[in-house]
Amino acid sequence: MTNARVTHGKLALHGGSPIRTDNLPYGRQKIDETDVESVVEVLRSDWLTTGPMVAAFEDAFTAVTGAKHAVSISSGTAALHAAMFAIEIGEGDEVIVPTMTFAASANCVVYQGGTPVFADVDPETLLLGPEDVEKKLSPRTKAVIAVDYAGQPCDYDGLRALAKKHNFTLVADACHAVGGAYRGTQVGTMADLSTFSFHPVKHITTAEGGMITTDNADWAERMKQFRNHGITSDHRQREKQGSWFYEMTELGYNYRMSDMQCALGMSQLAKLPGLVARRREISQSYDKIFSELPGVRSLVVRPEAYHAYHLYVVRIDESELGIDRGQVIRLSGPRASA
Ligand SMILES: *Cc1c(COP(=O)(O)O)cnc(C)c1O
Repeated sequence: MTNARVTHGKLALHGGSPIRTDNLPYGRQKIDETDVESVVEVLRSDWLTTGPMVAAFEDAFTAVTGAKHAVSISSGTAALHAAMFAIEIGEGDEVIVPTMTFAASANCVVYQGGTPVFADVDPETLLLGPEDVEKKLSPRTKAVIAVDYAGQPCDYDGLRALAKKHNFTLVADACHAVGGAYRGTQVGTMADLSTFSFHPVKHITTAEGGMITTDNADWAERMKQFRNHGITSDHRQREKQGSWFYEMTELGYNYRMSDMQCALGMSQLAKLPGLVARRREISQSYDKIFSELPGVRSLVVRPEAYHAYHLYVVRIDESELGIDRGQVIRLSGPRASA
């Protein structure tokens, strides 16, 4: 006699029936008709790049995060690079970064000639905490990049206190955490500088794109020049002023976002609270299911965090499951016969 409950309680790996037969993708964008229309509207307008949508998207982003300034930029990686440029990271400077993150969180330090110093993370949350940072501090530590891993904001009270005591700049790599909050305050204002990505696997997308938020007006101005070759005014500003004159005062890059991307960003941003709420709903059912499964443990979520759930990460006990991490990934990937 087959008992449905027993079958349900068994992993597919151990002979139970699979929850799904098709592949659940790592990430996928959600684009609707309003998104399409806002991009098309820009295509019919005078400005495809460096136009009015850029400032409009930046203003909308300050409204959502509560930060004083938002600087749009071509990717999350460029956002991190600009942050390192703003605080003048250079040769001989150390920047503490967590071990668990995407490559760009450390690469940005190297772009500026600085040295990334890797710190361990809390095994329960995979977040960088003040006690992890403290172990890696040196007289050369100029900044710390805290990554809100999976979408859970770090312990910013602890990190900010340490930053004040040891006089380093606190940067939040919040590429996983847009729409999240810490003690009721939005991600984007927790650190001196916060960086975001709008790659299609993230919460909201502009295809490629990024943003830096800060309350520091000088840094915001520096980053606006940095994304535009290091030049003191952009094309539109010069047209407004009726002047051809500009200076290149620093070595910058072409890291601008186009008006098409910013228009998409604005219509996506309007949907952010709903998208985060849906991710939290799904994660709640995961919490419940995984808590009943042997050999699988969800990460710990701290009560002060409003988790934005870019990722849902589980830790597996390889001996209890009887298979290793690689096999779990292969088993949950696309099925040839499905
Ligand atoms: C996605 C991501 C980045 C880089 O963003 P891109 O827009 O892909 O350049 C940086 N840091 C973290 C933690 C990310 O998840």
